[in-house]
Amino acid sequence: MSLVGAPASELLSLMEKGETTAVEVMQAHLDQINQTDDKVDAYLHVDAETALKKAADVDARRKAGESIGPLGGLPIAIKDVLCTKGVPTTCSSRMLENFVPPYDATVMQKLTAADGIMIGKVNMDEFAMGSSTENSAFKKTKNPWNIEHSPGGSSGGSAAAVAAMTAPLSLGSDTGGSIRQPAHFCGVVGMKPTYGRVSRYGLVAFASSLDQVGPFANDVQGAALLLEAIAGHDQLDSTSVPKEVPSYTASLDEPLKGLKIGIVKEHYVEGINEEVEQTVRDAYKVYESLGAELVDISLPNSKYCVAAYYIIAPAEASSNLARYDGVHYGHRAENFDSMIEMYSRSRGEGFGTEVKRRIMLGTYTLSAGYIDAYYLKALRVRRLIRNDFDEAFKKVDVIASPTSPNTAFKIGGLINDPLAMYLEDIYTISANLAGLPGISIPAGISKAGLPIGLQLLAAPFEEEKLLRAARMFEKETGWTSKRPTLN
Ligand code: GLN
Repeated sequence: MSLVGAPASELLSLMEKGETTAVEVMQAHLDQINQTDDKVDAYLHVDAETALKKAADVDARRKAGESIGPLGGLPIAIKDVLCTKGVPTTCSSRMLENFVPPYDATVMQKLTAADGIMIGKVNMDEFAMGSSTENSAFKKTKNPWNIEHSPGGSSGGSAAAVAAMTAPLSLGSDTGGSIRQPAHFCGVVGMKPTYGRVSRYGLVAFASSLDQVGPFANDVQGAALLLEAIAGHDQLDSTSVPKEVPSYTASLDEPLKGLKIGIVKEHYVEGINEEVEQTVRDAYKVYESLGAELVDISLPNSKYCVAAYYIIAPAEASSNLARYDGVHYGHRAENFDSMIEMYSRSRGEGFGTEVKRRIMLGTYTLSAGYIDAYYLKALRVRRLIRNDFDEAFKKVDVIASPTSPNTAFKIGGLINDPLAMYLEDIYTISANLAGLPGISIPAGISKAGLPIGLQLLAAPFEEEKLLRAARMFEKETGWTSKRPTLN
């Protein structure tokens, strides 16, 4: 059996039985990077030597009969938005091109404590702003299913790494859909946890009230395993919630009896790709055949989610990104005559077009005279969106929908039309505004050979239910076992 492309659980069991080693698993994935990444361009930084050394350490401990953490030496790709001690963390921005954090993000500490091993840092849209990974200052990541197409974004590198079988697991971040949309584009599982479920300490901030770190995996079990390792309260993040983390893996295979699935009437409007709609409708039938009940629901304010998000997220970004002033850290311009000129040149040179657009939008909507009309109003709309979900979850367990209205678009296809790019987030954004957990799981492949995902959302802290519902679908359909041919 090939080690690359195998699910995390299989790799773990092979290692436990002594049929392979963490070093062999790591080497196989490093070889896969060498063979595929010149085409896919997911990785920004790979340190093979350190990764192999850590794998050898896990092997030695396993051989000595010591207890090994639940990630058991598995290779994990890390979005370059997470601070990694001693390892460059660029956010795919010129601004942070030379930034080497002196500390690990909490999720990295947890990952290491669970014996997960970072195989490399992966590409993203600059500061996680975008839906295609084309906003990276360094390279454009390609979709492993068809390299003319985008892997989605902003965690395009994390999704492409798993799809290209260079890592069974990866971490991404999701502010408006950046885990789920690339998971849908790349035919992998991607999950955004409830806001507060996972620590944001050491996650470079984009929009702090929306950002959340989450797992990618090549099956639902892998996502459950990785989420279990990174979730939990952290004293260093006051928005993380002091709530027990259930064992997501332990309950995963228990099917949900009497599962009620919400179908949102506002979701099927013009603009949605026919094959995407058909795939999701077929998924509803699969659930029905498993005994689930389909319930029509309404989210009347969901039509405002893109507008509210593109006020709130840029507002928070403009404030968060004020720290890159050429003094504290980040790029500093070489030629300037005054302090103001130093600020403005450093920022002008360090940030790319989309980041500048967001900073300008956010600065505008927060400015005196406009804050009431835009920012504060958007916050009220956000509350209404959450109220709609609270009502809906009185009637249903999960809400099933497309993850995004189209399959992976071509690289270059939307980059000059920011509004069209923003509309790609129409199904994902409301979960961030309401703080809900969401998952995208593979549910089909288009005639053109591109993956199609199904999104499931649940009430806050119902990750367990979400994963079990996803697992039911996975077991019944087997879509998560499909891999691209990569030629
Ligand atoms: N595509 C959205 C944006 O550009 C979401 C990004 C994200 O979730 N980080 O803001």
